[in-house]
Amino acid sequence: MEGSRDADVIIVGAGPAGLSAGVYCARKMLRTLVISQNVGGQAAWSWEVENYLGYQLISGAELVERFRAHLENFPVKLLEGVKVNSLRLKGKLFTVSHAEGESRSPAVIVASGKVPKPLGVPGESEFRGKGVAYCATCDAPLFRGKRVAVIGGGNSALDAALQLGQLAREVCLLTLEDRLGGDEIRRRAVLDHARIKVYYRAVVLAIRGEKFVRGIDFQVDGDRRSLEVEGVFVEIGSVPSTDFLPPEVELQPEGGGGGGFQQPHHAPRALRRRRRHQRPGEADNHRRRGGCQGRPLRLFLPP
Ligand SMILES: Cc1cc2nc3c(=O)[nH]c(=O)nc-3n(C[C@H](O)[C@H](O)[C@H](O)COP(=O)(O)OP(=O)(O)OC[C@H]3O[C@@H](n4cnc5c(N)ncnc54)[C@H](O)[C@@H]3O)c2cc1C
Repeated sequence: MEGSRDADVIIVGAGPAGLSAGVYCARKMLRTLVISQNVGGQAAWSWEVENYLGYQLISGAELVERFRAHLENFPVKLLEGVKVNSLRLKGKLFTVSHAEGESRSPAVIVASGKVPKPLGVPGESEFRGKGVAYCATCDAPLFRGKRVAVIGGGNSALDAALQLGQLAREVCLLTLEDRLGGDEIRRRAVLDHARIKVYYRAVVLAIRGEKFVRGIDFQVDGDRRSLEVEGVFVEIGSVPSTDFLPPEVELQPEGGGGGGFQQPHHAPRALRRRRRHQRPGEADNHRRRGGCQGRPLRLFLPP
């Protein structure tokens, strides 16, 4: 069985965490395979990335190109554009099933990050890709000269509103709260923007349309309202992308509060057994880090 391994370590995800893991595995002379739906992850959706150390401001696209160039200096095999469907322990190796087949290794690093959280209102799924969007960086140009709504009140929503503000005729930002969250610098830019209008305490009820989105219904302090818009950008946060993990991997419920989140804390039986043999302090490191975004989960077999 050992002979049939495809790599010493498989990394799921090629966002900042997966790519960093790839570089460091390669530096340890491990045969490393990265499998990912895209390169860059959320960084690729970012219009501008601020204060990534070493860059005061850099576009998401440029940062991702630099990540890619960095990785290319190392003998890391990258399966790009490939979705991982499941992961299971088979014999002494993990088997990662993906769109192009199966790959096996004795260690897996899960760096699958997050995906946008859905709003969960009528019309959302129906008009997904027909006016309902989750990535302003990707889709803002489709709404040039149009009136659009952005749902959310944190940094992602502010970022989306500012991007859309450059192209759209009007941007209606609907937040549940009675003030905007996010960074002060973004808040100020949004509030000072001539084409962005903020609706506070706005509870979205439905997205409506015919073939494409035509409007949005919402409620403010019990009063029902609607807006005619051609696009709805859902920017209410994100959820861990862990649907491919097997039931043996324990997941923590997503934490709320202050727009923060708690990524799942994964503890497969194999990892728990390994913890019992770790040096004092070492065992708790992973728990303290909580399997956070940008800090990948490691699954490995007991010795
Ligand atoms: C709009 C926006 C603006 C941001 N601005 C900043 C900023 O200015 N400064 C900053 O420091 N941070 C910023 N961030 C946050 C930063 O982008 C994230 O913290 C970072 O990308 C997390 O990295 P990650 O590798 O953990 O996960 P992700 O970036 O989520 O990457 C996960 C990777 O896993 C892949 N994947 C997931 N599931 C599967 C699967 N089943 N099969 C195969 N591949 C899979 C994805 O395709 C992706 O490549 C921003 C994020 C957003 C959305």
